Amino acid sequence: RSKWKRVVRVLEEFEVAGDTPVRRLRQVVDAMAVEMHAGLASEGGSKLKMLLTYVDNLPNGSEKGTFYALDLGGTNFRVLRVHLGGQRYLSLEHDVERQPIPEHLMTGTSEDLFDFIASSLKDFVEKADDPDQLAARRKELGFTFSFPVKHASASSGVLIKWTKGFSIEDMVGQDAAELLQQAIDRIGLDVKVSVLINDTVGTLAVGHYQDPDTVAAVIIGTGTNACYLERTDAIIKCQGLLTTSGSMVINMEWGNFWTSHLPRTTYDIDLDADSPNPNEQGFEKMISGMYLGDIVRRVILRISQESDVLGPASTRLLMPFILRTPSMAAMHEDSSPDLTEVARILEDILEITDTPLKVRKLVVKICDIVTRRAARLAAAGIVGILKKIGRDGSSGIAGGRSRTDIKLRRTVAIEGSLYTSYTMFRDYLHEALVEILGEEIAPHVILKATEDGSGIGAALLAASYSS
Ligand code: ADP
Repeated sequence: RSKWKRVVRVLEEFEVAGDTPVRRLRQVVDAMAVEMHAGLASEGGSKLKMLLTYVDNLPNGSEKGTFYALDLGGTNFRVLRVHLGGQRYLSLEHDVERQPIPEHLMTGTSEDLFDFIASSLKDFVEKADDPDQLAARRKELGFTFSFPVKHASASSGVLIKWTKGFSIEDMVGQDAAELLQQAIDRIGLDVKVSVLINDTVGTLAVGHYQDPDTVAAVIIGTGTNACYLERTDAIIKCQGLLTTSGSMVINMEWGNFWTSHLPRTTYDIDLDADSPNPNEQGFEKMISGMYLGDIVRRVILRISQESDVLGPASTRLLMPFILRTPSMAAMHEDSSPDLTEVARILEDILEITDTPLKVRKLVVKICDIVTRRAARLAAAGIVGILKKIGRDGSSGIAGGRSRTDIKLRRTVAIEGSLYTSYTMFRDYLHEALVEILGEEIAPHVILKATEDGSGIGAALLAASYSS
């Protein structure tokens, strides 16, 4: 009995340390808005890089023609073609081809990587096009390159650092668009790289194309990031910035956000210390698919060390990242009365057998705590963006806003498997939004799931930037 008490205590301590009452979420909202200001005020002014994208015009539906996109930013890369008829379409007709990046190319030379990409593009362009069209005018392409980039224009920018398992040393500090253009030229393809963006900007572009009230985009998948439309006069670190629209998309790199108000537990501290990038991507490590399963594993490991309720010690529990987030979601969403899916996953992945129902329930509870916290923090981040641009409804009449302003719709485009495929995550995120914003404002904040936004958005931007 006393052993079970110890288990309950571990769980309670975890729950308390990771708790996200609305009061704490509001502190996170405020901190996000403050850090956004700081990151816009000066280079290095915040853990939020607040990178300029030089994208100052978002697609509005009038775009016409056939445009291409390349989407590189994870283990797969995609080549796409989008046909636009000059009218807003809610479903965008497109062809797409996915390919894994051979692992040796992720750590080789930039020339090898880009030659590989360009040759895939060539196959794709030549396979589908009829020869007449092929010879016609030069094709325009949007390049989605989802790594931190310092831009000089919407069509050029240098890689600041690699993330997500890529490590091609010679490329840091080089212009990603130029390297792609050179590879395209080498292979003799008549394609112009017209825009260089990341996945969040693509998602914002698709969101805005479909719904002009879209002001921000968030991605919650393997990693997490967000971007939004900012007024140029608020971008203090870049004095004299002029755009025809008076605004510019800012890539927040919000995965690196940090504030002492985040409910950090010992498991988060250990995960960070064991990671290849300690003290970086702190927000991401609490929210995104790459990490949630591993937080759960760490709590289960602790329980197995404190007691024998999990049976004999399993060495699997010591293996980092062995429990992936989709498996964690499957346990969390197991609706069978005796939690057979939980039992199966514990057995198959962690080699923990013959768990009593009580222990399976405990595991579900751990998944619930981890996911609920992640989703609620993501919601706070979203409200933080709305607050920064004065659209969270909090500035009231004193802030120069009338009650009708409060009722203006604002849409946030959202993408990534945690939101689209993990129902409990999505439900918790929505619930927290309502708690933070209140019943009056929440209905006017629309979260819109987009699909393949990172790629399609690049093609849309290539269209709106085409000469
Ligand atoms: P990307 O790698 O481009 O971010 P996704 O948005 O599909 O792609 O995110 C993949 C991440 O989402 C993976 O890290 C995976 O752990 C997680 N994931 C995928 N499917 C699910 C699911 N059904 N439930 C929970 N997490 C999932």
